[in-house]
Amino acid sequence: MSPAEKIGQILPVLEARYGAATTELHYRNPYELTVAVVLSAQCTDVRVNQTTPAFFERFPDFETLARAMPEEVYSYIKSISYPNSKSHRLIQLARTVVSEYQGQLPRDPNLLQKLPGIGRKSANVIASILWEAPVIAVDTHVFRVSRRLGLAKGKTPEKVEEELSQIIPPAYLARAHHWLILFGRYHCTARKPLCNACPFVDLCDYYQAYKNK
Ligand code: SF4
Repeated sequence: MSPAEKIGQILPVLEARYGAATTELHYRNPYELTVAVVLSAQCTDVRVNQTTPAFFERFPDFETLARAMPEEVYSYIKSISYPNSKSHRLIQLARTVVSEYQGQLPRDPNLLQKLPGIGRKSANVIASILWEAPVIAVDTHVFRVSRRLGLAKGKTPEKVEEELSQIIPPAYLARAHHWLILFGRYHCTARKPLCNACPFVDLCDYYQAYKNK
């Protein structure tokens, strides 16, 4: 079965299971989502959500954050992974948005990914959540699940993104990101995938190879 044929069978099942899913990060506007996404690198969404209310109270927008000192930002995010580098990155990010974009986040993922602290994955996450841009962010879960199912063979997130973009209809790209993350986070987990209760065993490359060993 080709990857395109597989995705045709997989998407309806994931939609039925996770249809309304969106990010688990808490945010109220583009600024807050951007900060939360930066903080979530190498950190759980739960921990980020515990940290951001006080952070947003003190730094409610890009302008305020752009004027902040790294030491103070650090004090608000010290329970997050890599607080030192993230403090500096957040301030640089805010200063760039203020100086180059009048305090408004650019919508184009290609411009977003040029901002300090925002890589390709984060840019796609932000643009797809905020503006339903037809892009798919490939994180560790999307990468693993896509390769196991045989939807993609690429060895880098960029290559897998390219392959997924060719087989997932544009209207589904943004939502498929969340569905694949949830499926990878709670079902097709890295160490103990729940293959015995999986609706995709018949088309999964990983399962077929494992079963035939
Ligand atoms: S069969 Fe197993 S490895 Fe394949 S998608 Fe399902 S849970 Fe993941």
